[in-house]
Amino acid sequence: MSTNAFKVEHRYLELPDSFYSRVMPTPLSDAKMVCFNHALAEQMGFHAREEDGWTNIGAGAELLEGMDPVAMKYTGHQFGAYNPELGDGRGVLLWETVAPDGTRWDWHLKGAGTTPYSRFGDGRAVLRSTIREYLCSEAMHGLGIPTTRALFMVSAKEPVRRESIETAANLMRVAQSHIRFGHFEFAAHHEGPDAVKTLLEHVISLHFPHLINLPEQQRYARWLEEVVERTARLIADWQAVGFCHGVMNSDNMSIIGDTFDFGPYAFLDDFDAGYICNHTDQGGRYAYNRQPQMGFTNCQYLASALLPVMDEDTIRQSLSRYESAYNERFKHNMCGKLGLEEGDEGDLSLIMDTFSMLHEHKVDYTHFFRGLSNLNSHGHAPVRDLFVDRSIADEWLERYEARLQKETRAHDEREYAMRQVNPKYILRNYLAQQVILEAQNGDYAPMKELLKVLENPFDEHPGYEHFAAAPPDWGKHMNISCSS
Ligand code: AMP
Ligand code: MG
Ligand code: MG
Repeated sequence: MSTNAFKVEHRYLELPDSFYSRVMPTPLSDAKMVCFNHALAEQMGFHAREEDGWTNIGAGAELLEGMDPVAMKYTGHQFGAYNPELGDGRGVLLWETVAPDGTRWDWHLKGAGTTPYSRFGDGRAVLRSTIREYLCSEAMHGLGIPTTRALFMVSAKEPVRRESIETAANLMRVAQSHIRFGHFEFAAHHEGPDAVKTLLEHVISLHFPHLINLPEQQRYARWLEEVVERTARLIADWQAVGFCHGVMNSDNMSIIGDTFDFGPYAFLDDFDAGYICNHTDQGGRYAYNRQPQMGFTNCQYLASALLPVMDEDTIRQSLSRYESAYNERFKHNMCGKLGLEEGDEGDLSLIMDTFSMLHEHKVDYTHFFRGLSNLNSHGHAPVRDLFVDRSIADEWLERYEARLQKETRAHDEREYAMRQVNPKYILRNYLAQQVILEAQNGDYAPMKELLKVLENPFDEHPGYEHFAAAPPDWGKHMNISCSS
């Protein structure tokens, strides 16, 4: 079936057994392979010549030698309230492999049936949400933003009840780590200081090996700083592409700073700072413009879980890195999007005024920045035409072009660089919705076409311009249910 050049190393099993439950997947019958990520497989150290050979594994009907499925235990804060009853409710960690380049990969089968942590859930994932997760993790990767990845997905006829009856699918989600902030909350609030230390040392030795030789308190302090900074930078990256996660609970925060758990997410179409993509989030806790604050709140939950093993002042100091890391990355991202390399004291106010203008005039976020990336070659029209009141655009363009005078790069060089950070293609909700409808009717070709474009979102894809189009009226501000 495959030529494996990876090593198997199921290190999660070295943690105390309160951190997991062994559980076999509940097989899906008659599963079909939907999509297989060959490029990723290669990177992980294997070749799937016969992708159908993986169908049974994806269905949870077969295990490879060395796979030892466990559901991970974690807890976490959901919408601000602590929930001690969490854990993988419908996913199992099958094993960990190490690629020839030394990269570790967790293999997590999502949708694999009930586990001891399923509570009232059925343990399944539906085709709709599995496609959404597959597309978005690969889109994020294409955008250069840290994320869990999609290795392959299978679908089956098994009915699954959500708002209506849908069908089941499983995703083989892979990531360097599936450990969440919530794992630390579980250790601290239910197991005690030794468990927190054990988990800390585990995470440091696998994912922060450069810290191993520091004295204990320094090692923990540096580690927390790095986690806080990675989180801040991740969210600054989300803000720059207009990504709304939708469910920033602390159990959805990856300890290594990956985008984690794709549910009712959205990429902004018309810019709306207060956009709420999750229709159960009525208070807007996770609205687009609250994400930076919520990232910090989650770091605070993580920090509280470290109180049993770290000095409070040190924790506070590590946490204080969030703001500067966020601001620095955000400014770097936005200057990149505007093509500003020289650094001018007015840049931050230009950036903030740009956001205000996009918000007030409901301008398509992606089209605006892509238009700016071709200003010199294609002229003002593609940008001006995004505004109902063209004079607003003209005024802004005048200010922007005056600022460009201070740049030393040639126009075409600047615009080339801008096109490497301002995507032409993003995963708009209406596009996801369209390919899901086709997939539900048995045609996966549109999903695969969209996927191909999203894998290289900065390139032109002649013949696929429709995937760069603004949403039709029905597809604007879609309110995505968080059922999945
Ligand atoms: P989420 O809101 O996706 O982060 O999920 C919160 C928790 O509920 C996680 O621990 C999931 O594993 C669990 N969960 C979500 N959906 C299901 C389901 N259909 N069956 C069992 N557990 C689930
Ligand atoms: Mg989750
Ligand atoms: Mg989820």
